[in-house]
Amino acid sequence: MSDKPDKLITDDGLRLDGRRADEIRPMKIEIGVLSRADGSCYLEWGRNKILVGVFGPREAHPRRLQRADTAVIRYRYNMASFSVEDRARPGPSRRSIEISKVSREAFEPVIMAELFPKTAIDIFVEILQADAGTRTAAINASSIALADAGIPMKGLVTSCAFGKVDGQIVLDLNKEEDNYGEADFPVAMTQDGEITLLQMDGHLTPEEIKKGLELIKKGCKEILEIQQTVLRKKFETPVEEPEAKAEETEIEAEETEPSLEYAPEAAVVEEVIEEAEELEEELSEETTEAGAVTETVPEAEELEEIVKEAEAEVVDGEAIEEAIEAEAEEEAEEETEEEAEEEAEEEAEEEAEEEAEEEAEEEAEEEAEEEAEEEAEEEAEEEAEEEAKGPWKVVKDPSESGSRGENDE
Ligand code: ADP
Repeated sequence: MSDKPDKLITDDGLRLDGRRADEIRPMKIEIGVLSRADGSCYLEWGRNKILVGVFGPREAHPRRLQRADTAVIRYRYNMASFSVEDRARPGPSRRSIEISKVSREAFEPVIMAELFPKTAIDIFVEILQADAGTRTAAINASSIALADAGIPMKGLVTSCAFGKVDGQIVLDLNKEEDNYGEADFPVAMTQDGEITLLQMDGHLTPEEIKKGLELIKKGCKEILEIQQTVLRKKFETPVEEPEAKAEETEIEAEETEPSLEYAPEAAVVEEVIEEAEELEEELSEETTEAGAVTETVPEAEELEEIVKEAEAEVVDGEAIEEAIEAEAEEEAEEETEEEAEEEAEEEAEEEAEEEAEEEAEEEAEEEAEEEAEEEAEEEAEEEAEEEAKGPWKVVKDPSESGSRGENDE
């Protein structure tokens, strides 16, 4: 471990890494980095490097952990043994168990777990490189990974710490500041400003806490903007302007028109049409030439004949109309006759059906009566026989009932 520097904040008010008191370390976020996780995030914050994988909602195992009314949220914070200067002891420690618990509680108010009863939502945090503020960094990364997994949340959770270094309140402590500072105060909050995690290590006055919380608000706002930018980049679909869209469809339409190179049939059809057009042109030229030769006016006699023919046609037309009317009348008469016949047939059929039904009913009634009489006679005979035998009853042989005999054995 490096020795304590003389000053953690210079006379200019700058910190060892060049930041001012109210500045956070540079943050870099990558989303969806793990293909097997439902949601994942890789986050670098200063020299911190953190990987988060979110799994679920999925069936909770072991089953005794399942809750009928809600999903179980599990948060596991783990430090890789190589994440710190001195090798970190692998496996859970008091510190990692505590961080896992408070971080889970930081998310419980925002995750809509009630939508997924009997399931588990697992958040796995791996600290690959630690440089102070790993729990806050992990919460910021988990928030993104949860969103990436599509877990319904009331909002994102952002987290940041303030501390006291050389008697000054500063935002987002780095490793030296954390090691040699007087206090460390991590906070997590929803995007509505509700605090979901608050811890304090060291000594602070109420005024210092007040001042520190103001810095936290600023820091969390900046982090939220970074988170939202990353999520927008992944999930927002660009809005296209309608004009641009119309142009695109036109281009598409042009592209989809079959080109002649690839449509030999179309080429043949076009050739045929061209030939037909040429022929038409030739013909029209010929007719105009012929018209030019017989340019004489038709004679009056010819005209009269044409008129007579036309009149005759008109007469014929009248005769045809009369014939059609007569035919129509005949047809109508025939139709009415046919209809009357059909109606008579239908009536006869209905009557026959009704009669048949009545007969069937009568027969059924008679049969029922006969059966009833027979039954009554039989019963009377049986009673007479029993009376003749005596007042005792016939008891069923117990050996006949299988189960009782088997049980007795
Ligand atoms: P946070 O990382 O959330 O600030 P701490 O305040 O407990 O949590 O830890 C501060 C820093 O101390 C860590 O970021 C890490 O760099 C270092 N640290 C924590 N645990 C160990 C450990 N077992 N060995 C070495 N360094 C550690």
